[in-house]
Amino acid sequence: MKKAIFPGSFDPITLGHVDIINRGVTLFDEVIIAIGENSSKNYMFTLDERKQFIENTFKDNPKVTVMTYSGLTIDFCKEIGINFILRGLRNPADFEFEKAIAQTNRHLSTLETVFLLTSTQTSFISSSIVREIIRYEGDYKKLVPNSVRVQ
Ligand code: ADP
Repeated sequence: MKKAIFPGSFDPITLGHVDIINRGVTLFDEVIIAIGENSSKNYMFTLDERKQFIENTFKDNPKVTVMTYSGLTIDFCKEIGINFILRGLRNPADFEFEKAIAQTNRHLSTLETVFLLTSTQTSFISSSIVREIIRYEGDYKKLVPNSVRVQ
């Protein structure tokens, strides 16, 4: 079975992430969405909320599971026996950033990173822009799956 993890903060999950995950499951038997918890980051949504948004979004897709982790992604992959990391690329800035991480991971482990280019409809979406829209009470619903709702 070929399994990949799709790591990120998902604060919150967006339609850009959903696009990459839906396409990722056509390449892998299982995609594990791994929510990273970094104690020095300030999140808008709690780990539980971020996890629930994702679980609800993919509740009808048995090929998608959700896990949480802290520490290095390569250590987490080793721990759960995963050989592939799935990442999305939106633009040249993503490429430069992701290239350094993927090459470092490859230097430190045997992990392969598989990149998918975002679709044109979602390439402008980022969690940070979604958070900004939520903060100023704008219409964030067009950018996120239905499960992401602010009380
Ligand atoms: P990070 O904590 O690394 O910033 P994110 O939760 O923002 O993680 O994103 C996780 C992954 O999703 C990354 O590979 C990122 O490039 C990808 N991604 C984020 N937004 C989009 C988008 N709009 N389209 C495609 N991929 C995206």
